[in-house]
Amino acid sequence: MAADFLPYGRQSLNEADIAAVVEVLHSDFLTQGPAIPRFEKAVADWCGARHGIAMSNGTATLHCAALAMGLGPGDWLWTSPNTFVASSNAGRYCGAKVDFVDVDPGTACMSVEQLEAKLQAAEKTGRLPKIVVPVHFAGQSCNMPRIHALGQKYGFRILEDAAHALGGTYQGERIGNCRWSDAASHSFHPVKIITSGEGGMITVNDDELAWRIATLRTHGITRDADRMQGESDGPWYYQQIELGYNYRMTDIQAALGASQMDRLDSFAARRREIADLYDRTLAGLPLRPLARDPAGISGWHLYMIRLNLDEIAPRTRRQVFESLRSQGIGVNVHYIPVHLQPDYAQFGFKKGDFPEAERYYEECITLPMFPAMQDEDVLRVKDALVQACLL
Ligand SMILES: *Cc1c(COP(=O)(O)O)cnc(C)c1O
Repeated sequence: MAADFLPYGRQSLNEADIAAVVEVLHSDFLTQGPAIPRFEKAVADWCGARHGIAMSNGTATLHCAALAMGLGPGDWLWTSPNTFVASSNAGRYCGAKVDFVDVDPGTACMSVEQLEAKLQAAEKTGRLPKIVVPVHFAGQSCNMPRIHALGQKYGFRILEDAAHALGGTYQGERIGNCRWSDAASHSFHPVKIITSGEGGMITVNDDELAWRIATLRTHGITRDADRMQGESDGPWYYQQIELGYNYRMTDIQAALGASQMDRLDSFAARRREIADLYDRTLAGLPLRPLARDPAGISGWHLYMIRLNLDEIAPRTRRQVFESLRSQGIGVNVHYIPVHLQPDYAQFGFKKGDFPEAERYYEECITLPMFPAMQDEDVLRVKDALVQACLL
């Protein structure tokens, strides 16, 4: 990577983070030790949720949460097509069928109107979803009060994919507090808001759901005599009471994550500053940012633009993208609609199924966004965009 290459996302590590990891390496526990509950408490407390359950990655939390909510063969999980494949793959791991709800053309989050219309149709055919996974795209919360109201009416559970959104709020509630959902999934991949290398956490308020997810994380094994069938054989004894996985996080990762949590507020504040600066700096260019829902504050994992393709014609999105890359701007594209992935064709999905997500995909570019970015970097991105759109 060239020294002057500006990536689209990047972790911010400091000496305290490094010291926290080294401390674990000198300690007795590399895994299943005290750093795990410390990190879990830090995230759950910040969000305002009763429980946080740390796992090996965000995808594992989606999988275990869906299983713990009873998702299985014959059930449906619905999510947004404008997401990372993990959101829908979680349903497939459970043997369930998956379907998508098209996005709002302004925010590129799941459209509540489309959700309601699809639920009305599904009720008639007896194909209502068991779980809906709203994705807080780019860090901005979906309209959770309305999705929650629909959940009450149509009887589905709600699993928030908050992988982009830690640090954000909606109607004054912190994303991840599960005020309008059963559980919220977080990811700590290095491009995300805070990092533990790889890692994820699910925040939950219901004690029983939290217990079941935590059990699935470790092979479906319990050491709690009250949960066992029959008597315990003795102090060494454990029982596998259902089929679970090894989805544990290590203490090395958890110590890094816990240390990063000390700076979540400053990371989030700096991301908001960069987003505001982008909005001001890019005004007047042949592009538009995502619509902002005034009810919330985004976690700003991503700063997305949509190109006004007719204004830049005959140049294409691809040419603009390649020009930016050649100028050292590490742009990306989020997301290729999941239903267009080859592995999803077997379920009958095809181009045209979710036209707003597809139109969004054809116009979007992900600009660099991470807390250590300088104001000058935003100006550099702007100059590169001008060059890319006009040349
Ligand atoms: C990053 C991400 C996840 C989880 O990813 P992991 O790499 O498994 O931690 C899930 N959903 C979305 C939308 C993501 O961006």
